[in-house]
Amino acid sequence: MIPSVLPTYNRAALTFEKGEGSWMIEADGRRFLDLGAGIAVNVLGHANPVLVEALTEQAGKLWHVSNLYNISQQEALADKLVANTFADTVFFTNSGTECCELAVKMARKYWHDKGQPERVEIIAFEGAFHGRSSAGIAAAGAEKLVAGFGPLLPGFHQVAWSDLEAAKALISDQTAAIIVEPVQGEGGIRPMADEDLKALRAICDEAGILLIMDEVQCGVGRTGKLFAHEWAGVTPDIMMVAKGIGGGFPLGAVLATEEAASGMVAGTHGSTYGGNPLACAVGGAVMDVVADEAFLAEVNRKAGLLRQKLEGVVASHPDVFEAVRGAGLMLGLKCSKAACGDVVAAGYDHEVVTVPAADNVVRLLPPLNITDEEIAEAVVRLEKAAAQVGAEG
Ligand SMILES: *Cc1c(COP(=O)(O)O)cnc(C)c1O
Repeated sequence: MIPSVLPTYNRAALTFEKGEGSWMIEADGRRFLDLGAGIAVNVLGHANPVLVEALTEQAGKLWHVSNLYNISQQEALADKLVANTFADTVFFTNSGTECCELAVKMARKYWHDKGQPERVEIIAFEGAFHGRSSAGIAAAGAEKLVAGFGPLLPGFHQVAWSDLEAAKALISDQTAAIIVEPVQGEGGIRPMADEDLKALRAICDEAGILLIMDEVQCGVGRTGKLFAHEWAGVTPDIMMVAKGIGGGFPLGAVLATEEAASGMVAGTHGSTYGGNPLACAVGGAVMDVVADEAFLAEVNRKAGLLRQKLEGVVASHPDVFEAVRGAGLMLGLKCSKAACGDVVAAGYDHEVVTVPAADNVVRLLPPLNITDEEIAEAVVRLEKAAAQVGAEG
């Protein structure tokens, strides 16, 4: 009999009842160190008092109003995002996949309004993940995402990861944009080299096409800059943001330059919930903490600490791991002989939560305010999990 919850996930036998900072706690009191953060969502940890305050204060005033009216919390958050990024304008969504929908629509509408409606094609990279909507799966193109779901939304091409020559070769007078995750998340924590991101920007500029960056997973302080592309010193025309921006409240945002957004006039797009007062009150509180230079400096310091310790774990378990990769607190342990799922499962035995990714990688995406002591404890637990997997193998 089908469960009451549609069984589209292979769930671990864990049920958390409470969260505190970097910890998730089961009903029997078992405490797990959370290096997954709800897949890069809980950037400030669980039940952060600042976010609880922002949410409950807003909850006592006004939960929801339609986008038919001005929403001051939304304007305040948009102002913050514009002030801290390349963007001139922001549209709020409830998820990453909705950002993909708008990014694609925006790029196509841009060319439509420029008098080149034939420019609808979007070039993406293999291993990408842009969400589960029809546009999202068509963009990523992987068999495991698209199989069985009928005709795909047309107009998407994929090239091998970081194969800029192939991307360039695909550009034609039908191309609207290139879409890229500066650091692939689901694809196995694969950062695009700064020089490649720069070169990709140059290719788009030369061809006069738009560059869309999907920072749904790598954005919001995750890599030690507010947004990952800042490391390369280049900016997108359109950027997708979600996961971390709400700190656990469902919220996403599409950021764009005035030029790229020029086709999106009144009536061209909308969302009932997108940018509602509750979500934006929380998002504003997240931005106030994360967009601070001192906070980001701490993320970088902790990232260095974690990475150094992980290098030690890899060195002492060559039968399980072969390398550490990633950027900031978006790190991946590339497995050697072991299967990443076995390492994640062994982590549960030692009360540490990690997330599997493609390319046989164990993902570490801890809360950005994880403490030094928690990092040390996390490594002890990962060490035990690795020893267990090594012994079983
Ligand atoms: C998670 C993710 C998405 C989809 O976000 P949802 O909120 O799950 O719809 C899109 N792009 C990237 C890079 C992601 O990591």
